Amino acid sequence: MKTLFTLLFLSTIVFAKAQNPIITEMFTADPAAIVYNDTVFLYAGHDEATVNGNGYVMNNWQVFSSSDMVNWASRGEVFNVDKITWSKGDAWASEVEERKGKFYLYFCTEHKTIAGKAVGVAVSDNPTGPFEDALGKALITNNQTTGIDSYWDDIDPTVFIDDDNQAYLYWGNSACYFVKLKENMIETEGDIQVVNLPSFTEAPYIHKYKNTYYLSYAYGWPEKIAYATSTSITGPWTFAKVINDNVNQCGTNHQSIIEFQNQWYFIYHTGDIGGDFRRSVAIEYLYYNNDGSIREIVQTPFGVEAINKIEQCKPSPID
Ligand code: CA
Repeated sequence: MKTLFTLLFLSTIVFAKAQNPIITEMFTADPAAIVYNDTVFLYAGHDEATVNGNGYVMNNWQVFSSSDMVNWASRGEVFNVDKITWSKGDAWASEVEERKGKFYLYFCTEHKTIAGKAVGVAVSDNPTGPFEDALGKALITNNQTTGIDSYWDDIDPTVFIDDDNQAYLYWGNSACYFVKLKENMIETEGDIQVVNLPSFTEAPYIHKYKNTYYLSYAYGWPEKIAYATSTSITGPWTFAKVINDNVNQCGTNHQSIIEFQNQWYFIYHTGDIGGDFRRSVAIEYLYYNNDGSIREIVQTPFGVEAINKIEQCKPSPID
């Protein structure tokens, strides 16, 4: 019994800090996290390129969960391009949003008949899926956004539900777009609008802190993460600054910003143990200055500490 206790105590010390990257059992990219029922659900794309691969090989989306930000349980595949009748392939960046007990997974994939990448939406009654295509067709297709001539400007969807319960879909590469979503979360409403942001590459993400909206995005190439702020979800947006520098061995940079148990986190990916096409999700703390500006993210190999170390001695509930 004493030995068991000692082992538990030692494991508490070992696991008190996360190691970056936090997911090492597979390569994961483009993280997007939500907090639901005191648990963080972390969604990510699945990089399956071979070690010498020179392009993305991505066919499904994965989910992981944690109650302490350090111990992450793989909850498996949530969705797969095989389940999308209109997809030509590619399971690119996704994000999940919960509304009235249903979970909506917005994703990017290549369209089979309308040339270019497209945004779709899948739905589930459970944050860990399985998700089913909600429409049987795309939500946004390349030919709806023609301001720039691009095959892949309709990628990287992110959804934010404002305080008045109006939902907005933001997305884009080279151009940043947004449109209202109907209450059913699977149809758009009104015109698609464009946000002008300096050196916008891709990966828009919206969060709110106090009374300010923050639109963070991948900036330049290789990508850093910068942000702009507004007093309204629809802008106008005022550029602030770069907060995350280039990441190791990877040109892309893709962020999710969440608050969990009164602490803010910056979730991103690096090429630390793989590379451009074999990425891995990592986590750092995110801090605000008194004026609400975000401090520069410090990329570390050791990540963040467990929220409640005492809890480490207990088996964590999975379901
Ligand atoms: Ca387009």
